[in-house]
Amino acid sequence: MRCLVTGGAGFIGSWLCQRLLDDGYDVTCMDNFLSGSKKNLDDRVKIINADVSKPLKENIKTDYIFHLASLASPKFYKDMPVETMMANSFGTFNMLNLAKKNNARILYASSSEVYGDPKEHPQKETYYGNVNPVGERSCYDEGKRFGEALTFSFSKKTNLKYCIIRIFNTYGPRMRKDDGRVIPNFIMQALNNKDITIYGNGKQTRSFCYVADTVDGLCRAAFSDYNDVFNIGNPAEIDMIRLANTIKGITESKSKIVFSPIGMDDPEKRKPDITKSQKMLKWTPKTDLNTGLKTTVDWFKNS
Ligand code: UDP
Repeated sequence: MRCLVTGGAGFIGSWLCQRLLDDGYDVTCMDNFLSGSKKNLDDRVKIINADVSKPLKENIKTDYIFHLASLASPKFYKDMPVETMMANSFGTFNMLNLAKKNNARILYASSSEVYGDPKEHPQKETYYGNVNPVGERSCYDEGKRFGEALTFSFSKKTNLKYCIIRIFNTYGPRMRKDDGRVIPNFIMQALNNKDITIYGNGKQTRSFCYVADTVDGLCRAAFSDYNDVFNIGNPAEIDMIRLANTIKGITESKSKIVFSPIGMDDPEKRKPDITKSQKMLKWTPKTDLNTGLKTTVDWFKNS
């Protein structure tokens, strides 16, 4: 069976390519290497160097499409908002058409960002979200919301098999050192005994899922028969002050913790309700934060 992974050279994408290879699939990665890297990829992965948002030049044959291509770190998507929106709109449209042509099943990688700064806590798949359409984060939040609506509408019209996965904060080896998201930032700062930069008062929360667990969730949904929306994330919630201290402890760092201004519309809290994924996909994250962070710190130290 053949799988196409868009954004396959990125952080989650490359872990997914590896998992699919290990499970015996024939894997093709489509990436424009805006944030991904060839060094993330196993030699057995076929590479198509292309932008998903442009008309496809290749005649691709595939049984499954995993559409992950999009900038995902606030640092990158705030810098390249239009590219982010194009990957999730035109890019999604191109992948839906490709899926239809191949009679393939498609997984659209959405995000917990569709919930915005949530008023419901924890967030269930039924929650509609609280999103600012004209702010620093809107290119990503609204891009993902549009991508979901397009996947749903297109599939309804054409009977395409699909699933939409709302991926919550994910971390692990192969995140870029300059990724800008909180875990790589804190680890790099701690390892270099530089100030650990907390944005805002540090009381905001996130719930971090180890990448191998996230990828397991993606595979379970993709290879199921459900045409549906699923949260994939680890419900263990932590605030940024505790996260900074945890990383300081693991790295035995002398870094000071400092506070700097927080970005616009930064969600105050985030935690997935994963009851639906647990019941229907029989999925549950297995790696606790301490174990996952230790593996991640070791990787950052050695690369
Ligand atoms: N954050 C922080 N210091 C950093 C980077 C991020 O305090 O050096 C905060 C950020 O303001 C947010 C949380 O950590 O509240 C998670 O940010 P991240 O960029 O990892 O992802 P998000 O969940 O906001 O998309």
